[in-house]
This record gives sequence, structure tokens and C-alpha cells, in this order.
Amino acid sequence: MIAEIIAVGTELLLGQIVNTNAQFLSQELASLGLDVYHHTVVGDNRERLIQVFQQAWERAQIVILTGGLGPTTDDLTREGIAAALGRPLRFRDDVWQEIKGHMHRGSSPITENNRRQAMVPDGAIVFSNSRGTAPGLAIREADRLAVLLPGPPREMRPMFREQVRPLLLEMIGHGVILSRSLRVVGIGESALEEQIADLIAAQSNPTIALYASLGELQIRLTAKAENEKNAWDMIKPIEEAIRERIGTAIYGVDDDTLPGVLGKLLQERGFQLTVAESCTGGLLGSMITSVPGSSAYFGAGFITYSNESKQQMLGVPAAILAKHGAVSAACARAMAQGALKASGAQVSIAITGIAGPDGGTPQKPVGTVYVAVLSPVGEVVQKLALRGERAAVRERSAKTAINMARLLLLGEL
Ligand code: ATP
Repeated sequence: MIAEIIAVGTELLLGQIVNTNAQFLSQELASLGLDVYHHTVVGDNRERLIQVFQQAWERAQIVILTGGLGPTTDDLTREGIAAALGRPLRFRDDVWQEIKGHMHRGSSPITENNRRQAMVPDGAIVFSNSRGTAPGLAIREADRLAVLLPGPPREMRPMFREQVRPLLLEMIGHGVILSRSLRVVGIGESALEEQIADLIAAQSNPTIALYASLGELQIRLTAKAENEKNAWDMIKPIEEAIRERIGTAIYGVDDDTLPGVLGKLLQERGFQLTVAESCTGGLLGSMITSVPGSSAYFGAGFITYSNESKQQMLGVPAAILAKHGAVSAACARAMAQGALKASGAQVSIAITGIAGPDGGTPQKPVGTVYVAVLSPVGEVVQKLALRGERAAVRERSAKTAINMARLLLLGEL
């Protein structure tokens, strides 16, 4: 079944806001096993809105629109779609009472304009909005469905999950749809795609979708079946085939996080962790302590940005700094050693590098980062050559370092 997304709003066309609604909806629709072939963004213009809607309505069974449901005259979605489908708008007192009820709880005054939001196309389903005034709407026509959702993500997302998703499930047919996400690190998107290209090409049920975010990938397997057991039975062999190919690049599943997985390994082995950071300036410590309960294995870390602080706090020998410089394998190792000594921990991660945009040289360009991990089960020092801007280099450095510690503890390095 094909679904399509239309985001309405001139702000989107002007680049003032990012179309995160389309991203969210696409992921949700994929998890329902629906195919999405088109996203459209259209401004607050009635004629063009109707035009893009009619095009979508011809090629998709489910068309989801977001935005333009507000009370002002430039909010045209309700009127535009009602006109396109030939459904007159009628004032619904029950909807108006709900809108008024919501507005009484907030600080904004009720205006006559708000009554526009209680105008409902004939025969439409109304979704209540507990976080705003604009109700959502759905219009069913034979085997097709148009869904109109408010623009603000904090209103749209729960409305979709709580009220639209069940409607779509009913439309798709009985059965269950289950997803499992494999969380992957340390391998690029195209390399991953190549390794599982045949599985992707052969996919139908379960579907295989790849999502990339900074330094990490997600492989989402979605199966549709009559019951949960059958859905998991369908996911299992595909998951096993992927695991066989990329092994420990999969650090976890579903809601697992890289620092959370490292935290578990440290606790299992009874090790305390410390960090010594230069170019990441505390980002590594922040990621590690973002895990609830991390105090069980993390007591202290060191941010040593200058050469002096590396010497004073971590005892990095002046000779290493003079001979190799602060961005070097020797310095990373000495930082990690110094942090172990100063903290009493058993595992130490040190990062030193050039995040840019300045500071690069032909020998050590921006993105040159050294990571050292010391532990009772072994040690590793690696030179990374990272691409991207300052923020990306810093984030990738911290994630790569956590992954190195994970692999070292697993005996994989
Ligand atoms: P309101 O009742 O707030 O007017 P609305 O349904 O009319 O809601 P819009 O006016 O189109 O929605 O958008 C309101 C806000 O919602 C925007 O300023 C923006 O912050 C957010 N928003 C709208 N569309 C999107 C989108 N596609 N992606 C992310 N955010 C969006």
C-alpha cells in the first residue's frame, strides 16, 4: 500500500524550519510496512495546495498532510482539502467545545478566528488535540484516506501515534507489524549497503531500511504477520544473516545506546572508567554520563585542553609534547595513563586531535585524532582521519572512542 506525505507551510519553503514532520512520518509509515514514494512541500497557497493534493490522491491510497490547520486565514489545509474532495465544511459544536476547553487552560484568548478550527468537512473523522487547538482530521473515500495533522511536532507526533496509527493498522488489515532495529557503528553507510545488498534487493516482508545519523547507522527490519510469534520468526533469519556478515559492528538493538552498551560491559567486568579529553572538551564524559546509573562505573574525567594542563593534571612528559606534539599517539597514550593514575580507574579513554576549522597542517590535517584506550584486558591506540566540520569531528571522535573501548573489552581489538 502506498502512502504519501505533504508538508504545508511557506516557512518550510523559505528554509526557516526543517521538515522534521516528513522524516518522522516516513519512519512511522515504513514501520507499518507502507511504501512512501513521494514527499512534497507546498507553501500556504490554496491553488498549489489543491494541485499537489490531487496529484498525491491519484497515486497513493494514504495521503498525510501536516501544517496549515491553525486559526488564521493563511491556514488553508482544511478548506483546501475539503474543496478538493467536494466535502462542504460544517461547524461542529462538540469540536468547538473541546477547542474552547483547551484554550481556557492556556493563556491565549479565544478569538472568533478559532471557530474556523471547529469547521469539519462532511463525514470526516476528528482527532482530538490535547496539546494544542487544531484538531486533526481524516477523510475516508472508498479505499483511500486523507489525513490532516497540525504542524507543530509536539502536537502532530502523539496524535499520529495515538489516533492515526490505529486507523492505518485497521486499514492495512488485521495482524501485527513488528520492527527490530539493529544499531551499527564503525562501518560506513555505503560499505554496509554493499555487504547486505542482496538482502536489501530481495526484501519484501520483512522490509529492510537503513537510517544514518552522525557516526552511526540503524538497520530496521519490519515484519507483518498474523501474530507476534510469526513476525519474530520472519525477522530472525534476516537478523542472523546480517549479524553473520557484520558481526560486532552491531553494538545493540532497538533503544540501546553506545555509551549504555559500554556501561554494561564495564559493570559486568567490574571495571571503573575514566576519560582524558582534549579536542572533545568534555563531550566524551557527557556521553558516558548521559546513561542513567553511570556513577556505578564512572567517577572522574579530565578535560586537558592546553599542553600545560596535560602535563600538570595527567603528567604527560614534556619530552613527548616536544618531540611528537599534543596530537600524537604518544600523547594520547600518556594522557590515558595519567588519567588511570589520577583516578584509580581500570579503564581509560583518551582523545587528542584537531577538530578545526583551524589548526591543521599538511602532516596533521583537520580531523586528525588519536584515541588511546587502556584496560586490564589490553590496550589500543588508533589514529583517525575524520571528515566533516568541527562539531562532526568532535562527535565522531567521542563515538569512535567509546566503540574502541567496547571492542577492546569484548576482545575484538
Ligand atoms: P498552528 O495551530 O500552530 O498554527 P498549524 O497546523 O497551522 O498549527 P503551521 O502554522 O503550519 O501549523 O505550523 C506551526 C509550527 O509547526 C511551525 O512554525 C513549525 O514550528 C512547526 N511545523 C510546521 N510544519 C512542520 C514540519 N513539516 N516539520 C517540522 N515542524 C513543522
